Amino acid sequence: MIKKNFTKTPLDNWINHKIGSASAFLTRQALAEYQLRKLQETIDWAYQHSPFYHAHLPEGVKKKLNCLADLSQLPFTTTSHLEKQGLQMLCVSQGEIQRVVTLVTSGTTGQPKRLYFTREDQELTIDFFCQAMSILTKAGDYVAILLPCERQGSVGDLLASALERLGAQPIKQGIIHDLEETLQKLIVTQANVLVGIPIQMLALAKFYEASHKQAPLALKRILLSTDYVSEAIIQEIGRILNCEVFDHYGMTEMGLGVGIECCAHQGYHMREADLYLEVIDPQTGRNLPLGQVGELVFTTLTRKGMPLIRYRTGDLSRILPGNCPCGTVLQRIDTIRSRKVGCISLGENNFLTMAELDEKLLVLPGIIDFTATISYDAVFILLHIQLFLLTDYSTIDSLKKSAVYDVLERIDSIRLANDRRQLKMKVEFLSVGTEFSPKSSKRAIQVLVQ
Ligand SMILES: [Zn+2]
Repeated sequence: MIKKNFTKTPLDNWINHKIGSASAFLTRQALAEYQLRKLQETIDWAYQHSPFYHAHLPEGVKKKLNCLADLSQLPFTTTSHLEKQGLQMLCVSQGEIQRVVTLVTSGTTGQPKRLYFTREDQELTIDFFCQAMSILTKAGDYVAILLPCERQGSVGDLLASALERLGAQPIKQGIIHDLEETLQKLIVTQANVLVGIPIQMLALAKFYEASHKQAPLALKRILLSTDYVSEAIIQEIGRILNCEVFDHYGMTEMGLGVGIECCAHQGYHMREADLYLEVIDPQTGRNLPLGQVGELVFTTLTRKGMPLIRYRTGDLSRILPGNCPCGTVLQRIDTIRSRKVGCISLGENNFLTMAELDEKLLVLPGIIDFTATISYDAVFILLHIQLFLLTDYSTIDSLKKSAVYDVLERIDSIRLANDRRQLKMKVEFLSVGTEFSPKSSKRAIQVLVQ
């Protein structure tokens, strides 16, 4: 096998410059010293200026932080805090806020999360996008943005600004509402780079495979963003569109950009000058050793409007041990395979995740999306799967429900629940036209409360 040479991403040099290092190369030691200083500044800033953090953090908190490990003594910030007390987290006047992002959540409070960003906070995101996009984009490229673009300061709008700085040509298409229309636009514009939401990109690829295989697409590289992504989705998109697929880990709470893969595709390379990462045991809240899977917790290091301290993301992953072939010194986190909130009980000590369903169902021919709903009656757990198939997909007649049950029964938790005679499954096929487009919000198994 030919050994490929992977070059370091621009992130190392960018971060080395950002932290004001005197060395020509980024080192872990310089980064750790910078991060400790920034954590102290952030915590002091939040304690002084945010009514929430003034009450939430212990008195004299700045003096308590003498090394990075000391951060683990501080309390977490949770989704519930954001929902209930978001405005009290602000460290600046509302007049200094340039952008407010409202996220509808499945949280228990029923209130949306609101994130507040100043102009400088937005600039940090553009700066990161510029570096991250340069891994897969060069000057002169045509980049179709299939993310929300319409509003000023939206993710697609910031991405477009970053691409212009790179000398690339952004094409703001927005999220897909009609597969046919989107595909036509890709053909007309001859976009060679695409940025979009995983499940939507999969639907687009399958639609292309079904109906337009001969149409000339100029696509070379695709960046997936905004939701966890299963390996099945990455493989399918890459195979059908014959593109290199890069994965980006983004989250509004963390200023949209968190980390991106390099050409070796071995974990997200982290935006470590702006974010400090911890991995904790979701049950006990204790920090976990390197390499163990747990919940990702972030502290912002450079945000002024609404810094977040030890924010629990609900995302499950791990810091990858060892070195990336590209030679980066940045931490790498494994692909986000599932969200904590997505673990659904199928009986005692038995859990099912949306990611497991994705892995098995989305590779079936013609399936462009599905919903999964769980309900519980006195005796049984009921799993209802609705699969969406493209009407004109040639394989629609050949896909049998028995094949779907077969792949579902290959999931360990489903097999166990079946063995225990606790589970009833119902599979439904729904035929949809090109106007169907998978939801752009985060994917999750729905639980029906009866
Ligand atoms: Zn790398």
